[in-house]
Amino acid sequence: MQLLDGKIAAQSIKDHLKEKIETLVATGRRSPHLAAILVGNDGASETYVASKIRNCSEIGFRSSLIRLDAAATEESLIQAIEQLNSDTTVDGVLVQLPLPKHMNESKIIQLIHPDKDVDGFHPINAGRMLQGLTCFVPATPLGILLLLEHYHIETSGKMVVVIGRSNIVGRPISVLMSQDRPQGNATVTVTHSRSKDLPSICRHADIIIAALGKPLFLKADMIKPGAVVVDVGITRVVDPQKKSGFAIRGDVDFETVAPKCSYISPVPGGVGLMTIAALLHNTMMAYEIHHSNT
Ligand code: NAD
Repeated sequence: MQLLDGKIAAQSIKDHLKEKIETLVATGRRSPHLAAILVGNDGASETYVASKIRNCSEIGFRSSLIRLDAAATEESLIQAIEQLNSDTTVDGVLVQLPLPKHMNESKIIQLIHPDKDVDGFHPINAGRMLQGLTCFVPATPLGILLLLEHYHIETSGKMVVVIGRSNIVGRPISVLMSQDRPQGNATVTVTHSRSKDLPSICRHADIIIAALGKPLFLKADMIKPGAVVVDVGITRVVDPQKKSGFAIRGDVDFETVAPKCSYISPVPGGVGLMTIAALLHNTMMAYEIHHSNT
C-alpha cells in the first residue's frame, strides 16, 4: 500500500506556483490577490480561511480577509462581493461556506463574478465544466485530480465509484473523471444516500472516492484488493485527548482498509491539503485571465 500524500503533492504544486510568482515579481508585475469573505466565526470555517490565507503568503500571493458579523445583513455581504468584483487589484473572490441561515447561499454564489470565482461554484463555471470548456473547477475535485496525477494513477478505462453527489465534491468529480481528459476516461458510478447495496457496488471499483461525511463509513469488506481509495471526508469528532478537544475523521476506516489498497489518501494530510493547493492554482488562473483582459 502506498500513501497518496497530500502534503507532498500539494507542496510540489505550491513550489511551482511560488517559482512562477518570483519570476513575475522580478519583472515588475504584481502578485496574484485572493480575497476571502468570512461571515460569523464558525470554528471549522475560521480554520479553513486561516489556512487559505497562510498558504497564500507562503507562496507570495497577496490575500485579504473581509470579516462580517454573524448577524450581518445579506445586503452587507452583497455589497462586499460587489466591491471585490469591481476591484481591479483582486483576482479571486471566495465566500467561505456555510453562511448563516438568514443568507441565501445559492444567490450569494451567483453574485461572484465568474472570472473571479476561484471556488468554481458559480453556475456559469459549473456549466462550462459540464461541457468540458475552460473554467474554474471546484477546488476539492480539482485537488483530487491533481493528487491522482501526482501519483500517476491510471484512470482511463477504470471503474470508479463516487460515494456522494453534492455540487461541491461528488457531482463534479464524477463528471470530470468520466470526461475525455487527463485523470478522466473512467467508467463512473455515482452513489448516494438512496443507493442500494453499496458494498457490492464498491467491490467492483478500481478507484473509490468517498465523499459522504460519515466517519469511518468505508470498511475493508467494501473494497476489492488493490483498489485506490481517496478519502474526502472531514468530520470533527469530540476527542478529549486532543488540545483542541476534537479530532478529524475521514469517511474511510483507514486502519482496516489501507492494507487492502494499492493507494490510499489519509485524513488529515490528503485531499484537504490538495483542496488548498487547487484553490491557489485557480487563483493563479484568475490572475492570468485578468491580465489577458487588460
Ligand atoms: P454533503 O452533505 O453535501 O453530501 C453528502 C453526500 O453523501 C450526499 O450526496 C448524500 O446523498 C451522500 N450520502 C450520505 N449518506 C450516505 C450513505 N449512507 N451512503 C451513500 N451516500 C451517502 O457533503 P459534501 O459537502 O459533499 O462533503 C462530504 C464530505 O467531504 C464531508 O465530510 C465534508 O466535510 C468533506 N469535504 C472535504 C473537503 C476537503 O477539502 N477535504 C472539501 C469539501 C468537503
